[in-house]
This record gives sequence, structure tokens and C-alpha cells, in this order.
Amino acid sequence: MQIHNTEIQLDFKKNIKLFIKREDLLHPIISGNKYRKLKYNIEAAKKLHQDTLLTFGGAFSNHILAVAGAGAEFGFKTIGVIRGEELESKIQDNPTLAKAQELGMQFYFVTRAAYRNKEQTSFISHLQNKFGEFYLIPEGGTNQLAIKGCEEILTETDVDYFTHITCALGTGGTTAGLINSLTQKQQLIGFSSLKGAFLSEVIRNFVSKTNWSINDAYHFGGYGKVTDELISFLNLFYKQTSIPLDPVYTGKMVFGVLDLIQKGYFPDNSKILMIHTGGLQGIKGMNFALQSKNKEIIQFYEI
Ligand SMILES: *Cc1c(COP(=O)(O)O)cnc(C)c1O
Repeated sequence: MQIHNTEIQLDFKKNIKLFIKREDLLHPIISGNKYRKLKYNIEAAKKLHQDTLLTFGGAFSNHILAVAGAGAEFGFKTIGVIRGEELESKIQDNPTLAKAQELGMQFYFVTRAAYRNKEQTSFISHLQNKFGEFYLIPEGGTNQLAIKGCEEILTETDVDYFTHITCALGTGGTTAGLINSLTQKQQLIGFSSLKGAFLSEVIRNFVSKTNWSINDAYHFGGYGKVTDELISFLNLFYKQTSIPLDPVYTGKMVFGVLDLIQKGYFPDNSKILMIHTGGLQGIKGMNFALQSKNKEIIQFYEI
């Protein structure tokens, strides 16, 4: 499945072409890169005759909702191990969890301390004792099969035409998949949505190429954090282009790309492709938080 690229017509001083690949339009629930990351994992779970998918995530996780959606669509039971015991009594106030539950996901709420053990075999055996057999998908969905799925984001035309590919970066799985399908003459920039340099190590474990870099100047205070400037930017960009961006990932990346264009980072005649990795479901939850602080909200979540 391939999504065509939309050109963004903004006024740049240099001769720069800017496009966005609307992966957010791949599927109404299993959005963007989460669709790519789940595709081969779903195939593997079917081959192994597993009927349950179990995964991990935070309160507003795009990945949690995507797994719930994949379960509903492809016939799996789903279990979400959720960080934060206090959320158990607030499912209906949380649009992500409420929707995941509606799609059939069963939750297991754990303390932040317990959640930190999510990769330890003792915790996994505890989960197996509690829930029986399952196909385990890591937090954020990143594993070898996820990266294989993300290698399908770029088309042959994309790798011929573009000089730069940009994407938002969480665990780094999507970035790793994109890097694997680059040609030598292209550069990839991953815009980190969180603080911390450990990410490039993660990517290095999965790729052998070197024509990529991580930019961590546009995380806006860290994972899930926003500023008034970022929210105003999302609304302005939507007004100018009719393209909605999410506040956690794609908004920060697009802000970064436009800022770098203005600062002259990209050479003349650059052809840049930004990957819209989805995540628009998170806008509702973010708007509740903004509203409770009497802040400007993100304008487009009903579309
Ligand atoms: C999960 C997510 C990312 C991060 O992907 P990684 O593979 O974890 O780096 C980026 N954008 C959106 C919209 C996401 O939901």
C-alpha cells in the first residue's frame, strides 16, 4: 500500500521543494507508522497460531490504540499493559483508552515502577501466568519485523527524487526502516520527540548505513511536552495547508524542518520529503489538558 506525496506550497527564499507523505491516511485507527510496524507482526502472530496480542504503553499512546484496532480488524484478543495505576478509574476521561477499550482491548494497569520492568523475563512470566499465551509486541511496537514494515514507506520514485527524508523519532524503529531503504545520495534526519542521545545507539543496532543524523533541538521540553509556540504553529500550518499535525511527533518534526529551511540548513535545490507518521488521535487528549490550563487548543481534531 502506498500513499502519494503532497507538495507544501510555502514561500521559501531558496529553491527548495517540500513534500509530505500522508501516512496518517493509511488507516482510520491503525495510523501511520503504527500500521507499518504492526503489519508483519500480525502475520507472524497468525503463523504462530496466537490469538492474543499483548503490548505496553502510556496513557495517550498511539501504539496502544493501533494494537487495539489491529486486534479488532484481524481477529485477535488484545491486552494493553498501561503505565500508571491511577488511570484505571479514569478510562472514560481518556479518549485513547476509552477507544481502545471499545475496540475490545483488555487493560492491565501497573505502577510506573512495575512498568520499568517490562522487558524483564520475570515480568513477562508474570504476565503469562496471568493472561496465558500471547504474542508480545514491545512498547512503541519496535522490533525487527516492525522495521521491515517501515522499509515499505518509501517508494522507488521517492528514493530517486528526494535529497532529504525527515521523520519524527520515538523509539527509532521507523527511522531505522526508512534508513534501510535510502540510497547513498540521500540524507535522513530524524527529529527526536524526546530528550536523550541514547536513541542513535538504538538505530545503530538496526542499520548499517551512515547517511543519517538525529536532530534533538525540537523536542519542546521532552516527550509529550508542548509549548504555546508549538500549538500556535500547528494551528497556523493547518490553516495554510489543511494538513493536521499531531503535537507529540509530527508537529515537532515539521516545525523543525521549516525552521531549518529558514535558517538556511538545506542547500539550494533540496527536495525534502517529510513523513507524516500519523498520531492524530492524540490531539483530543492533548486538548483536554490544554483546556484545563486555559490554553489555546489544537483546532482540527474533529476531522
Ligand atoms: C510512534 C510514533 C512515532 C515514533 O516512531 P518510532 O518508530 O517509535 O520512532 C512517530 N510519529 C508518530 C505519529 C507516532 O505515533
